[in-house]
Amino acid sequence: MASVAPTPPAAKPPPPKLNPVRVQIPEESVPDRTQDFREVLHAYSKEDAVLEAKRCIQCRRPWCVEACPISQDCREYITLLAVRDFDGAARVTLQDNPLSTSLCKVCYHYCEDSCVVKKKGVPIAIRQLKRAALELGNSDLAYVPSKPRGQRVAVVGGGPAGLQAAWELGLRGYGVTVFEQEPVVGGLMQTIPGYRMTDADVQTDRARFRDLDVTFLTDHRVGPEFPPEQLLEQGYQAVFLSIGTSTHRVLGIPGEELPGVVPALQLLKRINRGETVRIGERVVVVGGGDVAMDSVRSALRLCHGRPVTLVYRRSRPEMPADPEEIHGAEQEGIRFLFQKAPVRIVGAGHVEGLVVQSVELGAPDAGGRRTPVNVPGSEETLPCDTVIVAVGQKADLTGFGLELDLRIAPQGWPEGKGERFATATPGVFAAGGRSVVYAMGNAIEAAAGIDRYLCGLRGETPQPRPDAFGAATSYHLPAGYTTPIRT
Ligand SMILES: Cc1cc2nc3c(=O)[nH]c(=O)nc-3n(C[C@H](O)[C@H](O)[C@H](O)COP(=O)(O)OP(=O)(O)OC[C@H]3O[C@@H](n4cnc5c(N)ncnc54)[C@H](O)[C@@H]3O)c2cc1C
Ligand code: SF4
Ligand code: SF4
Repeated sequence: MASVAPTPPAAKPPPPKLNPVRVQIPEESVPDRTQDFREVLHAYSKEDAVLEAKRCIQCRRPWCVEACPISQDCREYITLLAVRDFDGAARVTLQDNPLSTSLCKVCYHYCEDSCVVKKKGVPIAIRQLKRAALELGNSDLAYVPSKPRGQRVAVVGGGPAGLQAAWELGLRGYGVTVFEQEPVVGGLMQTIPGYRMTDADVQTDRARFRDLDVTFLTDHRVGPEFPPEQLLEQGYQAVFLSIGTSTHRVLGIPGEELPGVVPALQLLKRINRGETVRIGERVVVVGGGDVAMDSVRSALRLCHGRPVTLVYRRSRPEMPADPEEIHGAEQEGIRFLFQKAPVRIVGAGHVEGLVVQSVELGAPDAGGRRTPVNVPGSEETLPCDTVIVAVGQKADLTGFGLELDLRIAPQGWPEGKGERFATATPGVFAAGGRSVVYAMGNAIEAAAGIDRYLCGLRGETPQPRPDAFGAATSYHLPAGYTTPIRT
């Protein structure tokens, strides 16, 4: 018998060529952008968006999706952009993410840190491509609720966590009432300066909730006169507390009561509301986080190029602020004074100076950050007429009783200690997060807990979240997905 020559194995397709260079994101020049609060970053053109999307090598295991706290299927919207299906890309973006228009401007893009392309060059511009999907495709869509469940949930706090929970529960067919103490929803997003995002972005996101049974009651504070337990007595079957960190922390040094000392949150909120805000000629901002970066850059825009100084007690590598924001502040000419701790504020009837002391960095603390130690005899006075205090935020827990047994997260928001953020009071859940998308991620988990609790009351088994636009297939995690990072 004649032997048959074995068929040679099919040649493997060559691996996709990795392009390490990102298509440049258009931005305002430094002299122009510091004149006012105009947006710094602009959208990609259609051609640039497609070019950037084509850089994605479509990893079989999507590291980017795994790193996203809400499991946004960014690999999929990038694929659709690369083949010019802009409407499809917009829909995919919105089906996982009810705050897409806000997040495409301000998310700290944890996905990009995990993108494999970063190993060879600049990661795919995943956040900027989200913006391209929404602006180039049809993003004026309305979410579709499931059949009504006949149960109502009260959400206290209309920040990102509260909005995400309202969306999750609204899609599942629950009635939701959001109680928000401020005149507008958005939470701390309402303090993010206009050069990064505007209230219109939050409103665009909120408009897509129009067909869900979600009622927003603004200027409604839950607290001493209207305790959260009363909500359960008033016919709400469950309560989600997402009160975040709406008050500022103080320095706790002498002179902090002087006119001219301004809490950062108050300043940023007033600017965003369009109020006339006057600050002095010589401004010093104290802090090293994102709020401090927003404060120095906003102050620079208010005082039209006069010097603005940032005082931070540790060194630059230890600044908790987003590197992109630090870079923006450096580009705009902010003066950074590192390893200086504020000691007191001086002035006769108004701020005239901030006394600081040099700091040496000692042994690392439990969290691995080196402990600042003040150097005796190293005091100096920084002449100034405005001191902006940006040293963190905390929750206002007035009216929230001990029976809830809340835990305070290191960054200040209250959360339930139980499974899926359940508090010690049955039916009451509480969560928040250190950034917009982390707050949303935690709210997804809390909403699943609330759904399970309410299903229990009805004697039903919880189902996965339905498709956001009413498609027959229910919500599923993308292939290759493992465990979300939600801490
Ligand atoms: C200046 C600034 C810039 C930031 N920049 C970014 C950024 O670029 N990217 C990013 O991802 N994150 C950013 N953050 C962080 C982000 O805004 C927060 O992590 C996020 O908003 C937390 O969401 P949350 O819903 O848990 O709480 P919050 O946003 O604090 O919302 C809580 C809401 O509850 C309301 N509330 C509180 N108590 C009551 C009550 N008793 N009754 C009724 N309502 C109540 C509050 O008014 C508020 O609206 C920034 C924060 C600040 C301050
Ligand atoms: S929401 Fe943020 S982390 Fe998630 S994919 Fe979008 S930019 Fe990345
Ligand atoms: S990790 Fe980067 S290259 Fe891989 S799928 Fe995600 S965006 Fe594309």
